[in-house]
Amino acid sequence: MALYSGVSLNIPDTSKPRVVIIGGGFGGLYAAHKIDTDKFQVVLFDKRNYHTFQPLLYQVATAGLQGDAIAGPLRTALKNKKDFHFRLLRVLSINEDKNTVTTSIGDLHYDYLIVANGCKSNFYGNKLMETYAFPMKSIPDALNLKSQLMQTFESASMINDPERLEKLLSIVIVGGGPTGVETAGALAELRKQVLPKDYPGIDFSKMHIYLVQSGDHLLAGMSEKATNYAYKDLNRMGIEIILNAKVTNYDGAVATLSNGQTINTFTLIWSAGVTGDVISGLKPEWVDRDKLIVDEYCKVKGSKNIYAIGDIASLKSEKYPHGLPGVAQPAIQMGKYVAKNIGKFHNNEKVAPFRYLDKGSLATIGRGKAVFQLSGNRTFTGFFAWFIWAFIHIAFLVNFKNRIKVFFSWMWDYFTYDSGNRLIIRPYIRANDEVAKQIIEENDY
Ligand SMILES: Cc1cc2nc3c(=O)[nH]c(=O)nc-3n(C[C@H](O)[C@H](O)[C@H](O)COP(=O)(O)OP(=O)(O)OC[C@H]3O[C@@H](n4cnc5c(N)ncnc54)[C@H](O)[C@@H]3O)c2cc1C
Repeated sequence: MALYSGVSLNIPDTSKPRVVIIGGGFGGLYAAHKIDTDKFQVVLFDKRNYHTFQPLLYQVATAGLQGDAIAGPLRTALKNKKDFHFRLLRVLSINEDKNTVTTSIGDLHYDYLIVANGCKSNFYGNKLMETYAFPMKSIPDALNLKSQLMQTFESASMINDPERLEKLLSIVIVGGGPTGVETAGALAELRKQVLPKDYPGIDFSKMHIYLVQSGDHLLAGMSEKATNYAYKDLNRMGIEIILNAKVTNYDGAVATLSNGQTINTFTLIWSAGVTGDVISGLKPEWVDRDKLIVDEYCKVKGSKNIYAIGDIASLKSEKYPHGLPGVAQPAIQMGKYVAKNIGKFHNNEKVAPFRYLDKGSLATIGRGKAVFQLSGNRTFTGFFAWFIWAFIHIAFLVNFKNRIKVFFSWMWDYFTYDSGNRLIIRPYIRANDEVAKQIIEENDY
């Protein structure tokens, strides 16, 4: 039943089997794109009307790219599909006994359900961290962080109190995986190339960028060559890397580390992990560690007609005893696999099991610097790896317009040393930051 009166999902009745997809991320988008709509009606629900290219969120947060450069409108991406219906809605629950999903506008029956709603930031139950830290999981998150950073430098240019200045000019990044490393590199470049020109009155030798990693090396899971390269380069760029430590608490002003160290900061960036965002209504035995357990056909184990793909799916195998990595390629490949085979599943035909093809891992450290590791651990570093990184990121952006925008933006930055997206269009007020609130309100930013 609809939560509001006078509204309806308005999905036409059909004689074809209906496939409902939850989430237009990498998995859902590729699945929707590939399903044969002559044979199936396809309905896609997403709580955003665009696909987010998450690998470049850090560039939006650090003023390298505009938000819309990494967002692809879902309706445009799928405009050529005939019996395809997009609705901007959050799916609230799945009623597997009735083969329906519940949304705020009403329920919809499915013959096949593809769950592709991805992950959310994982604060491991630390409520203070959740309140004050800056996550980086969506474009709104990245824009909040960009506003915070730019407001910070504006404030720092008008502050003499050394204690407050220290908190403004210290940035802590939690998590030394690809996102943490890439964010640290981008901030180091901003500090060196861009900010001193914008704020000649600020002494940027007092700006500290800390990267805190719980393990004993960065880029866990990558080769020794890759992790060493990242460590050395970030070190050279002036990033203060703290290994074997966790941030155990953060109250919006002071971060406390497990090694006893404290860091005064107003900006703590959380890139320390994500967890599956399981939609309610599914059987508890189908869920393991906040992910849906799937078999080698990407079907939720025990279900009749529910598939799960991408970050929300836990597909364990001998080669991947903890499940597939939480990156874009498994989501894309699973999406394509389910879409290609759904006709065969429907007709009870024999289908070859899903096989994940590892195409390698990439992380960039900064201008012309990256690591690229192939599946056999062969690792490339430096400009060649950066070129591959740039090429692949541009190639996988959802539409041609975004590819052009990102390409020209990068070219401009490369030759001018000036990332041009430092506008504070939508000021951000951190939780309980009365001073920031007063400044923004009094000055009508
Ligand atoms: C900061 C960051 C950097 C990353 N960098 C890389 C990288 O360099 N390389 C790489 O390969 N991977 C990277 N990843 C991981 C990669 O982005 C994910 O693995 C990939 O996006 C997973 O795809 P997915 O389709 O499972 O989910 P997502 O892409 O997360 O899509 C989920 C979709 O579901 C929608 N949704 C969620 N809940 C609901 C609901 N209840 N109702 C309706 N819609 C819903 C969301 O709006 C979203 O559009 C990064 C991730 C992050 C956060």
